[in-house]
Amino acid sequence: MTPEQYLAPYAVQSETARGRRHDEAAHASRSQFQRDRDRIIHCSAFRRLEYKTQVFLNHEGDMFRTRLTHSLEVAQIGRSLARNLRLNEDLVEAVSLAHDLGHTPFGHVGQDVLNECMKDHGGFEHNLQSLRVVDKLEQSYGAFDGLNLMFETREGILKHCSLANAKMLGPVAQRFIDRTQPSLEAQLTNLADEIAYNSHDIDDGLRSGLITIEQLEEVEFFARLWHEVQTAYPGVSGRRAIYETLRRLITALADDLIATSSALLADAQPGSVDEVRASGPLIRFSDGMRKDATELKRFLRQNLYRHYQVNRMRVKASRIVRELYDAFSDEPVLLPPDYQDKSGDEGKQVRMIADYIAGMTDRYAIREHRRIFSLEEL
Ligand code: MG
Repeated sequence: MTPEQYLAPYAVQSETARGRRHDEAAHASRSQFQRDRDRIIHCSAFRRLEYKTQVFLNHEGDMFRTRLTHSLEVAQIGRSLARNLRLNEDLVEAVSLAHDLGHTPFGHVGQDVLNECMKDHGGFEHNLQSLRVVDKLEQSYGAFDGLNLMFETREGILKHCSLANAKMLGPVAQRFIDRTQPSLEAQLTNLADEIAYNSHDIDDGLRSGLITIEQLEEVEFFARLWHEVQTAYPGVSGRRAIYETLRRLITALADDLIATSSALLADAQPGSVDEVRASGPLIRFSDGMRKDATELKRFLRQNLYRHYQVNRMRVKASRIVRELYDAFSDEPVLLPPDYQDKSGDEGKQVRMIADYIAGMTDRYAIREHRRIFSLEEL
């Protein structure tokens, strides 16, 4: 039995998948998507996720999520969901592990600053950068640049994309022009990402003291689960109560997604991935759960992501990224030779600068900033 024989007809399968940009013989003991997952785990951008910010700066505490632990949580949730729906677990795992490879240091602020700096040169977007990492920037293989991943893995990584960029990218972005859906595995990974960050950002927010249980009790969904835990375990203490609540929250979201999507799939009965692409979204939360999840997201945005202490970090980080960009674009000779463009093409040079900065970990960016601007450190 091959590892993919239990999959539903609407799941992506190695045999009928759209393949790689550079042809390679099938591997004797691994499916195409197991192979993609392995390539991602072995690449250097993956290791750097360990030192990149999710919400809290990497050096603020050892207990907080980083981009790496976030990606592992997405993969774990995604695989459970995929197995329940008889979708391709290996593809979900590969996309989950790769989805944040293009993130800049310091989280979303790094992206926003680079996008602003690059506005006359095509902008900067982290999804697109994740694809660029696996298509081009990783350089480990003799026969090609990048990791030469399967079409379906690349499609899953490219979660969003502007129309202008879609026209430039070719087949992998055609769906943004045609307004069709990606595979069910891509749709699922997107929601596994949301389940993961909604729950772990509450956990990290509480641990940091920036948000409190009293505030969270205003969120109906959280309050319901919190009180369930208090009833089941009267007098249960701090961390234990939080963990018990968050495990229920993940379960509630996951169970709802499985039930809702199963019903949609039973109704639509897509017979192939092509039929999936041509229908509406089939992996979804119920309307009630969508409302709950949106309320939770809104709470986190207002109370955690915009907390004044997070703002301080954000403003400081944006200054570091902007000053690095300005210094490198004014004086490309400050760049390591691999990132200096010899062709005299300004667009190419600034793209290489964006690649260099986006590839940095938080601590590397801070160190590089000090090396360039500190007069004490010559
Ligand atoms: Mg993510």
